[in-house]
Amino acid sequence: ATPAALMVGMGRGAQLGVLVKSAASLEGASHIDTVVLDKTGTLTQGRPVVVRIITSGDMAEQDVLALTAGAESGSEHPLARAIVAEAVARELKVGKPESFTATPGHGVEAMVEGRRVFVGSRRMMERQGVSGSAEAEQALTSDGQTPVLVAVDGKWVGAIGIADAEREEAASAVQALRSMGMHVVMLTGDHEGPASRVARKLGIDRVFAGVLPEGKAHVVRTLQAEGRKVAMVGDGINDAPALAQADLGVAMGTGTDVARDAAGVALLRSDLRGLPAALGLARSTMGVIR
Ligand code: ADP
Ligand code: MG
Repeated sequence: ATPAALMVGMGRGAQLGVLVKSAASLEGASHIDTVVLDKTGTLTQGRPVVVRIITSGDMAEQDVLALTAGAESGSEHPLARAIVAEAVARELKVGKPESFTATPGHGVEAMVEGRRVFVGSRRMMERQGVSGSAEAEQALTSDGQTPVLVAVDGKWVGAIGIADAEREEAASAVQALRSMGMHVVMLTGDHEGPASRVARKLGIDRVFAGVLPEGKAHVVRTLQAEGRKVAMVGDGINDAPALAQADLGVAMGTGTDVARDAAGVALLRSDLRGLPAALGLARSTMGVIR
């Protein structure tokens, strides 16, 4: 394609709410045959809500929620926002954490009101030697919820079940990608249960679940080793290495700055239908006929 055609292509992208950062990104987009989508915040709205709390019986439900919200108040993860919102809705006093560390793909650790609070996945609990949460976790995942486990002062105290609806346009965007002949894959740090449930609903047939942030880039490399040209779509800090590894990184406009910086394309309105539109546009601009 001529430089003029590239400029026109990038301009059309902008009309679709798709920001293409460079001519090289547009070029890369024209060869994509595989689209890998993050789940939370990408295929789903990323506006999850707390639907259930199971406690170990050692602490009142409201206290578990208040301490967890205190620990999560420093995190920008969608699950953290859901927990803080629920505590606020119940008019609980949410304490500011005295210290706070987030581990992407695992959870957070914080001191809240003099108590040591760990919040996150099973792996997060295991790393701290906390046990006893398996049954509650199982109850939530089998219901399609994402479980957030909570330990206080080294002891498991509760599990918070969180549900996140799919984006309205997700199914039609996946359908459009498939009708272009794209291989569509879901890649998520979340559990197999909620992940396959969303995948089934959206018509995605290949799922990689329980994947850590470093693992996401590895999955992209594995697909590339199969000879595929991979576009990776994500919103979080945890997606940045995979966005950088992919032949084309695509960031959700509502996602984190880190994700947008690592990507060659941004969906400004976070409308997933911009993706098949952009890939189609890239093909026609570059004169790739399939
Ligand atoms: P996804 O790949 O679907 O965007 P993430 O990699 O962000 O998901 O998170 C994977 C898992 O790590 C979550 O399902 C959750 O169990 C845990 N996790 C990560 N960050 C947090 C947090 N701030 N609070 C609670 N759990 C978290
Ligand atoms: Mg995400």
